[in-house]
Amino acid sequence: MADSAIEPNACRWCHAPQREHYQRWKRPVGWHRFAHPTDAQRLTRMRARRTKKEEAKRG
Ligand SMILES: [Zn+2]
Repeated sequence: MADSAIEPNACRWCHAPQREHYQRWKRPVGWHRFAHPTDAQRLTRMRARRTKKEEAKRG
């Protein structure tokens, strides 16, 4: 999955969207269920998506 596809509200550990999460294994947390991201994570992801869009526009 490309970084630009990460949803701002995706799992705080593995970046999978809640609707397709179920149980996943990911370092360093191991098996886990969906966990809501922190506000800081949401902001970082939204900024990353915006940056990607602007880069695409510039070509
Ligand atoms: Zn996860």
